Amino acid sequence: FLQLNAIHKSFHREAKVLHNISLTIEEGEFFVLVGPSGSGKSTLLKIIAGLEKMDGGQILLNGERMDTRSPRERNLSMVFQNYALYPHLTVEDNILFGLKCKGLDQEQQQKRLQECITLLGLAPYSKRKPKELSGGQRQRVALARSIVSHAPLCLMDEPLSNLDAKLRAQMRIEIKQLQQTLGLTTIYVTHDQTEAMTMGDRIMVLHQGDIQQIGTPLELYNQPTNLFVAQFIGSPT
Ligand code: ATP
Ligand code: MG
Repeated sequence: FLQLNAIHKSFHREAKVLHNISLTIEEGEFFVLVGPSGSGKSTLLKIIAGLEKMDGGQILLNGERMDTRSPRERNLSMVFQNYALYPHLTVEDNILFGLKCKGLDQEQQQKRLQECITLLGLAPYSKRKPKELSGGQRQRVALARSIVSHAPLCLMDEPLSNLDAKLRAQMRIEIKQLQQTLGLTTIYVTHDQTEAMTMGDRIMVLHQGDIQQIGTPLELYNQPTNLFVAQFIGSPT
């Protein structure tokens, strides 16, 4: 479905941030990207989204070059770590923003909006502004804005890192259900081992811009290919 071939990237003249990243993600897969701070996770997501240029490599979606398209033409949605909601817009208008440039008429837009509001339980807050919402409610708005476009590929960059432990646990389940209901192919970046192990169909461990291992949670746990993966996943060595 999504294929990355030999992607590499460095900023200015600094050391490489990503070395030869190659991987294939299946349609409908929940693919988790883990690694320490600075390992290149956000940079990789931004490259896929077209928000950052790569120095070399290819991205293919269903066999067709995607990296030559503009961000808008890539037909994907992204949830940022800080949610990036518009403070001056209401919940509804924030979500509708995800539909801009989709060429839908008013009626279709309203239908999509209502679907998302119901799905994420946002009806009581739909007329509020982001500052009048709790962290978990804002998180749901960010998710709604990303799924309202019905883009088949969803990129999420540490969407739960600002939430407390209880809400994180709840949102893990909600995101996973949403992803399965909609059949979204998802690339999910996290620092959190529990999130990775419980949500991921497969996990990729990144360290200093290099892929350490790609596998199912069980494979990483039982057969870590090196000490770094073992320690990161927390299995006994
Ligand atoms: P975190 O878990 O802290 O979010 P990350 O894995 O997402 O980390 P990136 O944001 O991808 O890491 O950054 C990887 C490296 O690239 C870091 O060393 C960072 O300092 C560097 N970097 C990121 N963006 C830029 C930029 N615009 N200009 C220069 N260096 C950058
Ligand atoms: Mg990051």
